[in-house]
Amino acid sequence: MNIDEMIEKLEEAKKSLGGEAEVMLATQPAWPMRYSIQGVALLGKNVICPDCEGYYMEKLANGDLRCCGPHCGSVIGADDIEKNDDNKVCWIVEGSQGRDTPYAPQLCWDSDNAL
Ligand SMILES: [Zn+2]
Repeated sequence: MNIDEMIEKLEEAKKSLGGEAEVMLATQPAWPMRYSIQGVALLGKNVICPDCEGYYMEKLANGDLRCCGPHCGSVIGADDIEKNDDNKVCWIVEGSQGRDTPYAPQLCWDSDNAL
């Protein structure tokens, strides 16, 4: 799904529910979980460690990234990240789980309920 398609679906949802309706994220249909939306991030599709190909990178105080892969710890300079970032993606970032229940309705994946 691209940004235009997402906006179109959200505009349709807004017409039905109004702009104040909450937006939530439903994940993993085999064991449906719910999350609030923390925000949106623009970042490369594959920001990975060049040494171990790990995906979990932590940001250091100076903006560099350090790999948290087992036995790795490689550091990528902040400038290198931007230079090589020709494949940016709009990420919807999960927030916290619901207080009442952590589960999402399995019917979120039912085509009758899709926009
Ligand atoms: Zn690594």
